Amino acid sequence: MKEKSLDVCVAGCDKSAFDFVLMFDSEPFKKLDVRLVAVCILNEENSRELINFAKKNDISIIKDIEKLPQLGLDLFFVPDREFLFHIQDRFVVRDLKPYIVEPNTCKLIYKLYETHIEGKKAEKKFYSVFKSARDAIMILDENLDIHQANQAAAKIFGYTIEELLSKNLKDLIPKSEKGFYKKIKEGRGEPVIISAVKKDGSSFPVRVSLSSFSLNSSLYYTVILRDQTQRKEMEERLLQAERLAAVGQTASYLIHEIKNPLIIIGGFAQQLLKRIDPKDKDKLEIILKEIERLESLITDVRDFTKSIEIERKDCDLNELLLETISFFKDEAAKYGIEIIVDLSKDVPRVKVDPDLMKQVFINLIKNAIEAINEQGTLRVISRLEKSVVKIEISDTGCGISEKYLREIFNPFFTTKKKGTGLGLTISYRIVKAHGGIIKIKSKEGKGTTCTILLPIK
Ligand code: ADP
Ligand code: MG
Repeated sequence: MKEKSLDVCVAGCDKSAFDFVLMFDSEPFKKLDVRLVAVCILNEENSRELINFAKKNDISIIKDIEKLPQLGLDLFFVPDREFLFHIQDRFVVRDLKPYIVEPNTCKLIYKLYETHIEGKKAEKKFYSVFKSARDAIMILDENLDIHQANQAAAKIFGYTIEELLSKNLKDLIPKSEKGFYKKIKEGRGEPVIISAVKKDGSSFPVRVSLSSFSLNSSLYYTVILRDQTQRKEMEERLLQAERLAAVGQTASYLIHEIKNPLIIIGGFAQQLLKRIDPKDKDKLEIILKEIERLESLITDVRDFTKSIEIERKDCDLNELLLETISFFKDEAAKYGIEIIVDLSKDVPRVKVDPDLMKQVFINLIKNAIEAINEQGTLRVISRLEKSVVKIEISDTGCGISEKYLREIFNPFFTTKKKGTGLGLTISYRIVKAHGGIIKIKSKEGKGTTCTILLPIK
């Protein structure tokens, strides 16, 4: 059987009485099944707020305390000292006697209520910090089962929060991190960088710090994690930049040493070609070809090692593209490659470095032709899109595997026997120096599309 609710009345005219009434109307008391059935006041003047509230909430307003016993109250709260003083001598008080809760007790109840509310507020504040923290935070029990996890934690591991709550720390940080688990056992929580596992099975570096606390005589751990992937990448990139600077210095020294003798060898070989016995001609031609290749390699390496300085001139990009394409016409015809040119008249004149941009186009078209090898289509498109010019160079060649796609802009990355792996690196730098971007999309066996976006200034 359901217990009868506790019917109460609050008496008084001061602020403490009004606070008390509001307290009964608040969340914790609603759960307690306490029913405020009446308020008792001495005069209307001092009790405006209380009266309005009572009227709004259908609570009786008693001005004559003689009527109180008729209400069948369970408790009669009198937080207002003055009020108690007024009614003390009235004989009706005797009838109410065991049920009167006096000002001091009321004060104590109100204090407890306030403490509870403060606690709730602090809990809420803590929870919102926990929820919105950028660091991943998890709370684990003694067995390392996850009890709480925030959104950041779910995100770095690729799970939903619900999924995380059914996991153990060992599902996220492999047991092979023995040093880490030993530290937990020893209660040492200083931050360490270890390897963690995502939902998709991939590993990533993570910085973990751990602390323990006990609640209701059980041990819990708070774990704070931070993904270190970007930091690691940055470190690697810095290291690579350092290495490249060293390579650059060595390369410019070598270029300097090789270039002159190469020109001399080339010059003499040319002279010899005119006089040589026809049966030895092939060999000399090979020498000349190889010299040519070395010269272009040296030019590439030189371009790569020097910093890019752009000299902007008013240019027609379509014209630059056409010039570059005409340069490759014979080669394309030789391999049965069809060239489709689709240039938009809307493309405005832009201020770029024509020599450098031409170098980019040469690099990309050369790559496309080399990728096609035999039979296929090379398509060159230009468009005006909002405030950028888009240039697309696409081919129906061999394409790039996903594995390599990440590497193609790295210096010296090449899949070609005689490649330098510098064409795309240099092109990337040139486009970037112009404030533009260069992107490559590719499907292995299908073809590749290089897109250059250049801002019009
Ligand atoms: P290189 O041409 O000397 O190899 P690049 O920097 O120009 O150097 O290109 C790097 C690598 O990117 C190439 O070796 C090739 O594997 C790949 N690549 C670039 N463009 C294409 C393309 N259009 N089709 C297929 N692979 C390409
Ligand atoms: Mg190339």
